[in-house]
Amino acid sequence: MKRYRAEPLIRPDLQAHIYSADLLTNVRNLRTFCPARTKFCAAVKANAYGHGIGEIVGILKNHVDAFAVATFYEAMHIEPIAGGKPILILEPVNPSYTAEQITLCARYGFHCELSSLEGLEYVNSVLKNSSLRIPLHLNVETGMGRCGLEERICRTVLERLPDSPNVMLAGVMTHFATADEEDLSYAYEQLLRFEKFLERHRLKGRNDILIHACNSAGTLKIPQAHYDMVRCGISMYGYYSRPMKNPPVPLTPVLKLQAPITQIKTVPAGQSVGYGRSFVTTRDTVAAIIYLGYADGYRRCFSNRAKMKIGEAVVPVIGRVCMDQVILDVTDVPNAALGQMVTVIDNRHDSPCGAYGLAQLADTICYEILTMIHAHVSRIVH
Ligand SMILES: *Cc1c(COP(=O)(O)O)cnc(C)c1O
Repeated sequence: MKRYRAEPLIRPDLQAHIYSADLLTNVRNLRTFCPARTKFCAAVKANAYGHGIGEIVGILKNHVDAFAVATFYEAMHIEPIAGGKPILILEPVNPSYTAEQITLCARYGFHCELSSLEGLEYVNSVLKNSSLRIPLHLNVETGMGRCGLEERICRTVLERLPDSPNVMLAGVMTHFATADEEDLSYAYEQLLRFEKFLERHRLKGRNDILIHACNSAGTLKIPQAHYDMVRCGISMYGYYSRPMKNPPVPLTPVLKLQAPITQIKTVPAGQSVGYGRSFVTTRDTVAAIIYLGYADGYRRCFSNRAKMKIGEAVVPVIGRVCMDQVILDVTDVPNAALGQMVTVIDNRHDSPCGAYGLAQLADTICYEILTMIHAHVSRIVH
């Protein structure tokens, strides 16, 4: 059978500009905020939070100590370009991995999360006739209520490790549920539980394992939980998990998304614009069309609400956001021209089209706005 397989489609007209100097400054600022011995693990899952995983790993590989990805597949994807830095797979090892995948994890030295006894038994059974070993990070459930392993089972895992020659304990970790909230009392409870666990099992101060707990919010707000490594995602890309008044570390957004004006036309007063006639002009209106829409990650709920920027001029989105088009009112920007680039997502926190503002319009968090930027948007590194 003849098979047809196209190269992945890229849209050169849709441009996510990635400012590497800002990314590196964010990383440096975050690292300076942590003790010198604390390693920095860069979370590059979800296409590096929409920034382009290949580009981001390329920029960071000599500036971070490790990368964290969600899945085995992302680990395989970045392994050739990660400069030999350890790659931590956040999805716990489990029997849905094929034996071949487990073997590859060991070959490439991927650090795998362990969150079940079944996971340990599975790794042991796959590798038992080999000399391969997988570095495992025990994920302790302290209150996140997701994939952590209950303490009593952690104990069983720790007891079985000496009889598991194909794994080595490389780390012990937990994850905060509320580190981004104003009220940190629950996060402190989690930290206390984690501390007690580490003490009970004499895991602290061992130089053969990495203890880690903090995501970005934890890194910024719970310095006593920095331990041996922090796992930062959103902060590296220039955002606090949610807008923060007096941030302890300055961060600058790394990405600016732009698309060109592809059509300009005059719409007489009193005429509707777009699907559902949700916008009716109240004046003779100069409308500009941008070929970007919800299929590219620009949410439909931005219809009639969001703004974009042409140069420094702020222009409103009018009518419904379509699958691949948006209509702008550029009446007040007389020099708007065909082919001119419009800023869709700005790289400034206080911009009317910054990711925080867009997140607010969509009743979500900036993470979702960024990760929804489609993979076919071209990433241009500066
Ligand atoms: C995604 C993730 C992180 C990074 O979170 P940010 O809030 O983006 O810093 C850290 N740890 C784990 C387990 C994660 O899944």
